[in-house]
Amino acid sequence: MANTTLNIQQLGNRFYDYRKDCWGNSYTWVEKRSLTQVQRLVIHHSVTQPTGNWKTETDFVGLLHKNRGWNGFGYHFTIGSDGVVVYVGDIGTARANVANHNEKVIGICLIGDFTKHLPTDIQINSAHDLCDFFINHYPALTQITGWDKVIGHKDALALWGNTTATACPGSSWPFDMRDRIRDNIVYIPHEDGTPVIETSPESPTEAPTEDSGGESGGETPDSPVSVSDTDSGGFPTGDGSDPSIPVESGPVDNSQPDTSDGTWDIPIEETSQETLQYSFISFLFKLLSKIPFIGRFFG
Ligand SMILES: [Zn+2]
Repeated sequence: MANTTLNIQQLGNRFYDYRKDCWGNSYTWVEKRSLTQVQRLVIHHSVTQPTGNWKTETDFVGLLHKNRGWNGFGYHFTIGSDGVVVYVGDIGTARANVANHNEKVIGICLIGDFTKHLPTDIQINSAHDLCDFFINHYPALTQITGWDKVIGHKDALALWGNTTATACPGSSWPFDMRDRIRDNIVYIPHEDGTPVIETSPESPTEAPTEDSGGESGGETPDSPVSVSDTDSGGFPTGDGSDPSIPVESGPVDNSQPDTSDGTWDIPIEETSQETLQYSFISFLFKLLSKIPFIGRFFG
């Protein structure tokens, strides 16, 4: 049993240790590992819809993993759209979020589908604070020595090979989400009035993996036993495999509707994009209203 208690002061009340009360087994479902084995902090997106409440969001992810036949969360942390960092899988265990390399990673899943919208500002803040804690204030992770150890799920294939191709964590990774998390820069305009340039979450640059047959990305338990790789990141797709139950690890069956991490089968309204545009326009009006003369017309 792994029971690694964390005290993350940077997060204050944005941290919730949900290991005991969340669905599934947070302590022993998957194999125990040494913290010195951890080589990367891996950012994921859930490909589920934000509700503004970490608990319902996290419970839903748990349900998806349960429906895959797992006995616990595949991630170590979720980060709700309200910024709460939820500890769901002990970091002393190798969970199931980067197929074939789970013992090397701490899996951090931001709630949302970042092929369709951007993370919330508070999610950026919390992801920064969580990574900063592990990089700068948690010496037990001897290999987590700098921000270069923070990767997106999609980077794992180039780094290690032998894992699932995925669009996770969405279109703005690595540009520009990675830098925002590292530098703790949110999307809303800065106080000095300099608007932050929004990148289109749907920019074509990421195309390759997004549509590969359905979703890519999902997370699969990688234990030797586990499944190949369907990424089912998001929905119960069949690879469910309890690492404790031997599963064939043959060729991946692409006929399965993978859903997770890459794409979501259920249409998500793309209102967030419009909301962002609206916010930007509102910001412009505010800016104009501060200029004498013109301000009279907007003020
Ligand atoms: Zn992922």
